[in-house]
Amino acid sequence: MDLWLREGQVSDAVMTYKVKQTLIREKTKYQDLAIVDTYSFGKMLVLDGIVQTTVRDEYVYHEMITHIPLFTHPNPKRVLVVGGGDGGSVKEILKHPAVEKVVLCEIDSEVVNQCKKYLPEISFALEDPRCQILIGDGIKYVREHKDSFDVVIVDSTDPFGAAEGLFGRNFYSEIYDCLTENGIFAAQTETPFYLPGEVKKIYENVKSVFPIAKLFMAGIPTYPSGFWSFTLGSKKYDPQSVDLSSREDINTKYYTKKLHKVCFVLPKFIEDLTR
Ligand code: SAM
Repeated sequence: MDLWLREGQVSDAVMTYKVKQTLIREKTKYQDLAIVDTYSFGKMLVLDGIVQTTVRDEYVYHEMITHIPLFTHPNPKRVLVVGGGDGGSVKEILKHPAVEKVVLCEIDSEVVNQCKKYLPEISFALEDPRCQILIGDGIKYVREHKDSFDVVIVDSTDPFGAAEGLFGRNFYSEIYDCLTENGIFAAQTETPFYLPGEVKKIYENVKSVFPIAKLFMAGIPTYPSGFWSFTLGSKKYDPQSVDLSSREDINTKYYTKKLHKVCFVLPKFIEDLTR
């Protein structure tokens, strides 16, 4: 008998993945957590029935959410990740030689523990001495740490439950205060194909706080519709006009310095959301 993981991408569209083995399934304090091994995408982390990251395509999301802000900042030394308990963002951040410290503020310790155990291909950088893992609410942490980070990355679940407050204007203004004078922030901000209103609202929230607000895209096979948006807020540096020629070359599979310049060029239906 075949075993299939059925993911409701939106209320009337589902994706199914043929499963080799369920490695762990538990109810944590915050969510239903599962790590399953699939034929098409290898091992994947699933939270509340939603695919978060997979061994086969994690690099797209983790490279784009980190390298765009980190290469836009002239000298990113201290980086905060809100969420990101699988370690994928930390893995990419630590490729930048300027980075001295990454703080990961993840609300659910079980995500860290189980990803360390079952997804070492993604989580290995969590053991790096430059990485400090804090278990707690990112909203509270940001509020209590002003003028503390050069880059803040919000690598969260979708805007409900514990993550609901991570997409609002108040949180973005607290991120602004948490950032140093040249600070840059980036977040995953949902799919404009299925949730155009949500993407527009989030963009407007970022724009109401940061002098520079930009939306950029990546194609992520395991995310609803594949069209995935990220939103960047910057106090001073424009990601489309930074000179990357003298910046370090790092090992990537998706991000390139050429892509850095063009990922902000949007399809018409998405550009219209930013008007
Ligand atoms: N990095 C993955 C990806 O490729 O999309 C998914 C993101 S990561 C698994 C999302 C994390 O955000 C979850 O582990 C969840 O527990 C965490 N999270 C949600 N709300 C949070 C909050 N308020 N503070 C800190 N972490 C939060």
